[in-house]
Amino acid sequence: MEQKKVWIPFLVIIMLLGLGMFFFPFLQKQLQREKEEAPPFEAEEITTPNSQTWEEEMAKTYDYYKEENQDRYLAYREKHSELSDENILTYVNIGLDQPYYTNTKEAPNQNTPYVLVNKYYYLGSNYVPDNLEELDTNYSKGGISLVKEAKEAFIQLVDAAKQDGYTIRAISAYRSYEYQEGLYQRYVNQDGIELADTYSARPGFSDHQTGLAVDVDNRELDFNSFEQTKEFTWMQEHAVEYGFILRYPKDKTDITGYTYESWHYRYVGVDLAQKIKASNLTFDEYYMRYLDKN
Ligand SMILES: [Zn+2]
Repeated sequence: MEQKKVWIPFLVIIMLLGLGMFFFPFLQKQLQREKEEAPPFEAEEITTPNSQTWEEEMAKTYDYYKEENQDRYLAYREKHSELSDENILTYVNIGLDQPYYTNTKEAPNQNTPYVLVNKYYYLGSNYVPDNLEELDTNYSKGGISLVKEAKEAFIQLVDAAKQDGYTIRAISAYRSYEYQEGLYQRYVNQDGIELADTYSARPGFSDHQTGLAVDVDNRELDFNSFEQTKEFTWMQEHAVEYGFILRYPKDKTDITGYTYESWHYRYVGVDLAQKIKASNLTFDEYYMRYLDKN
């Protein structure tokens, strides 16, 4: 009889523990709910009389805020209330608040893998990159050159693709100012200036003049159909491992100013390529946020 009673306190403790475990999740949920329903104290602080203006807040928050662009940020923000603060600053920094080819500037970082060329940044008519080297026909359709560093990376890429069972070659890479001049003029004559501008760069504004850009195909289909090839799928996964990014992505045509080009890759170096891919930004956007340090 005496021995049996010893178990009673243990039994009670076990029952209490059981009950506790059962009700704990409910209690947690309740606490969470109370937290969510609590009035946001911080919201009121923002509207105190001494509160800072939007532009002051932006200047403090983003290191790519540019004092000289302040009026343009405000005007662009008024027009585009749907855009995030980051995008307002980034797009205006690119120049997108003004028509393409206005307020153009000479491209920064010339003769480096970080050189930015787009519809606002150009290379001079005399600019020829250093260290151009020709690709042989194992890697190209012939007569095609890239800057040495990009050429070596491209050879590695093609070799790696081949090992995985895929065929990739360069069909166009470095283009001189004069060549682009003729090409663009031909497209304008054929399609008119408005349409030509959506797919062809004006002379000086071509990514190809950097000697770091390459158009590819799989030796079977026309480059225009590269998106439908298994080589394209391979490139989507592996191009960055060799320092190449897709320069004109599908859902970013308003930012790049070019229609989607599944065949056009740009060498920026492995480290930067991986960062750009992970950011989901175009080179133009990434440049303005993280590389445009004066
Ligand atoms: Zn191209």
